[in-house]
Amino acid sequence: MNAHAELGQAQAAFRDALIAHGLLIPMGVDGLYGRSGTFEEVIERFNALVTRHGGHEGAEIMRFPPSISRQVFEESGYLKSFPQLAGTVHSFMGNDRDHQALIEKLLAKEDWTAGQKATQVVLTPAACYPLYPVVAARGPLPAEGALLDVYSWCFRHEPSIDPARMQQFRQREYVRIGTAAQVMAFRQLWIDRGTAIMSSLGIPLHVDVANDPFFGRAGRMLAANQRDQTLKFELLVPITSSEKPTACLSFNYHQDHFGHAWGLRTHDGGTAHTACVGFGVERIALALFRHHGLDVKAWPQAVRDQLWG
Ligand code: ZN
Repeated sequence: MNAHAELGQAQAAFRDALIAHGLLIPMGVDGLYGRSGTFEEVIERFNALVTRHGGHEGAEIMRFPPSISRQVFEESGYLKSFPQLAGTVHSFMGNDRDHQALIEKLLAKEDWTAGQKATQVVLTPAACYPLYPVVAARGPLPAEGALLDVYSWCFRHEPSIDPARMQQFRQREYVRIGTAAQVMAFRQLWIDRGTAIMSSLGIPLHVDVANDPFFGRAGRMLAANQRDQTLKFELLVPITSSEKPTACLSFNYHQDHFGHAWGLRTHDGGTAHTACVGFGVERIALALFRHHGLDVKAWPQAVRDQLWG
């Protein structure tokens, strides 16, 4: 068996085990799952652990629905990098005759979606996107900059049998907005903290420069730029493969990209820089199940103490 087939088999086996134990609930589409109470409890306890490490610094909490406006989505520049991952919300906007045509197609089991029109709503691709225009609208930042805490469902269109590559999942993030020096210090702090948090859970890991799936020919340049300028690091954990470990945390430096996109200003009128740390909470739960077993009651006491202590 070649390496690709082996990886696929490992992913399918882990997914099937998670489903057999009732931790994930299949929904008929690869990458779309319900979660059991136990799975959710692990995620809630992990989120609380993150707050224990980062909640004392006064981050402003913002919670958004799992969608952003089409305008904000366009302004973010996401379509330049990842058009293949975006999910736009479409709805029926026709008249009685159009409705009749839709019903006929549905009954004939033909494609009924051609008449659907784009709404003003796009599924959130990353948890921090909605907050930048909100902060920008307040005017220039104070000298100390801004620190925010977001948690959102996100969508990426990449159907896969790998349970660690879901189409809809949650990201917990801390986001720093300020000068380049402020946001770089924040990112280093969270690379250290994130490593400490995951190590305390007995999870094997390493941190490396990220390799995002930028789209197309122009994307190869963006990917090279991301690597050369070390704009993004990931904390990687072997879940279904040691050769291809899964990014469970990411540490992102956006330079002044979002500052320009939404007019974020520092206290002295400069363009603000931004950085964020993102926790992929489903992937972290899967890493825990992979390394400590599918029965949380049998997890090592030290790990249980961290989460339930
Ligand atoms: Zn972010």
